[in-house]
Amino acid sequence: MSGAGLTIDLEALTSNWRALDAASGPATRTGAVVKADAYGLGVAKVGRALLQAGVDTFFVALAEEGAQLRSALGPGPEIFVFAGHMDGDADILAGSQLTPLLNSAAQLARHLGVLSGHRFGVQLDTGMNRLGMEPDEWQSVRARALEHGPALLMSHLACADEPDHPMNRQQLARFHEMTSGLDVPRSLAATGGILLGADYHLDLTRPGIGLYGGAPFHDARPVVHLSVPVIQTRRLTPGETVGYANSWTAPGQARIATVAAGYADGLPRALSNRATLFADGTPCPLVGRVSMDLITVDISGLGNDPEQLDLICPQQGIDALAAAADTIGYEILTGLGTRYARHYKGAQ
Ligand SMILES: *Cc1c(COP(=O)(O)O)cnc(C)c1O
Repeated sequence: MSGAGLTIDLEALTSNWRALDAASGPATRTGAVVKADAYGLGVAKVGRALLQAGVDTFFVALAEEGAQLRSALGPGPEIFVFAGHMDGDADILAGSQLTPLLNSAAQLARHLGVLSGHRFGVQLDTGMNRLGMEPDEWQSVRARALEHGPALLMSHLACADEPDHPMNRQQLARFHEMTSGLDVPRSLAATGGILLGADYHLDLTRPGIGLYGGAPFHDARPVVHLSVPVIQTRRLTPGETVGYANSWTAPGQARIATVAAGYADGLPRALSNRATLFADGTPCPLVGRVSMDLITVDISGLGNDPEQLDLICPQQGIDALAAAADTIGYEILTGLGTRYARHYKGAQ
C-alpha cells in the first residue's frame, strides 16, 4: 500500500482561503466552513492550518463538530453552529464556547431560557426554505433577540452557483429588508456568493467548497490527490467479462488491474463503466461495476503494470470525477471516508 492514500495539500488550502479573502474585498471579513470533518479532509489539521493562515471565524453544522474543532484550535476563534441550539446542546455549547445560529423562535426561547448571556447569532430564511427564521417569525422575536445583542445575522443563497439566477437578487433584497438598519454584522455569501460580487459580501463571508478546491471557484488550487493501490493484474481473452453482472466484455485481448477502492470508500456506484483512472497521467478506463471494496481498470494501453492508479489528480479534479457520477464535488469529497490514510503536506 506504499504511496497510496489521500494527500491533502494544506498550502493549497490556505492559498485558496487567501484568494477568497481577497475576492471578498477589504471591508469584509472571511471565515471558513469546516462542517462534516472539513468536507471529509480532517477538521483538526484543516482547522489549524486555516487558523495559522489568519482565519478567526469558523462554521460547523453541529455542536459536536464544534466541540471537536474547539479541541483542535483552543480558545479564541469564534465557532458558529448552523444547526443552532438544539434540545440537549446547552452543555456542549457552553463547554466548548460555541456560538449557535438560532433558526427559529423556539430555538431563541430555548437559548435565552437555558443559556442566557451566552453568545448567539440568528439565521434567517430568505427563500431557500431550509434553515432559519421566516420573515414573520423574525418580526415577532426581533426586538427580543436584539436586546440580547446577537453576534451575527446570516442567511444562505439557494442558487449562488448560477450567477444570473433571479433568486440571488431576490434573496439579497429580502435579506436587506429583514436586517437593514440593525447594528449587527451580516453574512450572506458562501463560495458562490463571494463570486457574485461586492453586493453580496456584507460583513462576513463563509466559503467552504472553494477552500477545498471545488467549483464554483474555478481558480482554486487543487487540494486533494487520491491514489489507490493495485492488488493484482490479469490478462483477458476477447469475449471474457469483468465483475458483477458481466457488465463489461473485453473487445479484444485486454489487461485488467484490480484496485483497492469501492463504494465503501466513497466511490459512487454510478461510476461503473464511466470513471477514468490515471497511471502517471495516462488515462485508463474503469470497466465493469464498482463493488464495495474494489474496482477494475483496463490497463491494456500501458506498457507496464502500475503499482497504483490515480483517481483525483491534476488530470481529473474532484468536479470532473463528480461529473462522471452525475454528482457534485461536495459529495465526492465528503464521501471519501476514513479508510484511506490521509497524508498532509504544506503548512505547519
Ligand atoms: C455549507 C454552507 C456554507 C459553505 O458553502 P460552500 O458552497 O461550500 O462555500 C455556507 N453557509 C451555509 C449555511 C452552509 O450550509
